[in-house]
Amino acid sequence: MTTETLTNWARNITYTAKELHRPRSVDALRTLVAGSERVRVLGSGHSFNEIAEPGPEGVLLSLTGLPPTIEVDTAARTVRVGGGVRYAELARAVHAQGLALHNMASLPHISVAGSVATGTHGSGDGNGPLAAAVREVELVTADGTTVTLARGDDRFGGAVTSLGALGVVTALTLDLEPAFEVSQHVFGQLPLAGLDFAAVSASAYSVSLFTRWRNSGFDQAWVKQRTDRPAPDFSWAAPADRAMHPVPGMPAVNCTEQFGVPGPWHERLPHFRAEFTPSSGDELQSEYLLPRPFAVDALHALDEIRHAVAPVLQVCEVRTMAADEQWLSPAHGRDTVALHFTWIADAAPVLPVVRRVEEVLAPFEARPHWGKVFTVPAVALRGLYPRLGDFRVLADALDPAGKFRNAFVRRVLDA
Ligand SMILES: Cc1cc2nc3c(=O)[nH]c(=O)nc-3n(C[C@H](O)[C@H](O)[C@H](O)COP(=O)(O)OP(=O)(O)OC[C@H]3O[C@@H](n4cnc5c(N)ncnc54)[C@H](O)[C@@H]3O)c2cc1C
Repeated sequence: MTTETLTNWARNITYTAKELHRPRSVDALRTLVAGSERVRVLGSGHSFNEIAEPGPEGVLLSLTGLPPTIEVDTAARTVRVGGGVRYAELARAVHAQGLALHNMASLPHISVAGSVATGTHGSGDGNGPLAAAVREVELVTADGTTVTLARGDDRFGGAVTSLGALGVVTALTLDLEPAFEVSQHVFGQLPLAGLDFAAVSASAYSVSLFTRWRNSGFDQAWVKQRTDRPAPDFSWAAPADRAMHPVPGMPAVNCTEQFGVPGPWHERLPHFRAEFTPSSGDELQSEYLLPRPFAVDALHALDEIRHAVAPVLQVCEVRTMAADEQWLSPAHGRDTVALHFTWIADAAPVLPVVRRVEEVLAPFEARPHWGKVFTVPAVALRGLYPRLGDFRVLADALDPAGKFRNAFVRRVLDA
């Protein structure tokens, strides 16, 4: 047990938990959970809000003291991964066995359990969020017993993207596929006027568009194509003539290889290399996920307020993903476009702009990313998640006394 001061990666949240524990075994973890009144787990701390915060009377658990289990079953094409493991280690181990995950987020530094708990995603019209790969969840619940929820169980729709509200995820089993190579090209200016968004986002396995909203269009397009598929004909913009970083002024060496050099899936699908600081390192982030058919109208609506957005923005990224079945997934039930904002690190000028963006995107049924900064009221969240009631029933059944329910989760569930 330690009482050290802990912050999240962005340092905008200081956890006030009275104790931080790093149990060394699942048995020790069970005892701790059973004997505590209020518990939250901290993953790799890459969320930008108080989702992991247990409050001053609570206990924060880090799973980094548990054995870093990564058990690949090459015959079944699955991997069982411990609750504290990060994508960087997982991806290397899986690739060494000739296998792959279907997708990755922009960075590999994040924990698997924490990522799927918040609906974290990469890009690609046909790629579900990272949670879509999960087939089984092992949870230590409030009384210290293990509950396993697998695909096919009626409760599974609430089990993966669970905001940490069901218990401690000690292991996850994920689907794998044969390893594949990806080549990544970066392109330059792409105007918003006349943008055929559906064609652009469908042009490769994973496409990301970046803008600083200094003008009506995109500064960069990152196009990642599997080498076992036809090379994309990205005729809407000119290829970049030098290696790029999405955030202007940041070194391109932090980013994964460009100029179409083929490489393993896990060294191309993330934008940022595991050995370097991802993104700018000094920032806040927000993201809103909307039905994909609204993409162009929503981008034009943002363009109308770009003079308010640009001064506090480092970069905005547009990605797509396939509909997800998880009840609390921001991509639940709809093919999705995600509009992401990397803000400057100063909440005072950023928050009014976040509210403005939310007003503008509300008519497009925008669901906020659970791990980023948002101010959408609880009552609006209820309207955005048709299965929220089912999730509440599941959380009540597994955690009747609300041991894993912090202020963030109460706000979402008790709306
Ligand atoms: C630089 C940067 C880039 C990012 N890029 C992307 C991106 O490309 N796409 C995207 O969608 N998001 C992105 N994010 C957001 C990030 O993926 C999410 O915030 C994600 O939740 C981070 O995982 P984590 O382990 O750090 O979670 P944490 O912030 O530590 O925790 C998140 C939630 O998961 C719960 N949790 C964690 N581990 C467990 C466990 N074992 N059992 C039970 N509950 C658990 C916590 O209690 C908390 O509720 C980015 C963030 C940063 C800082």
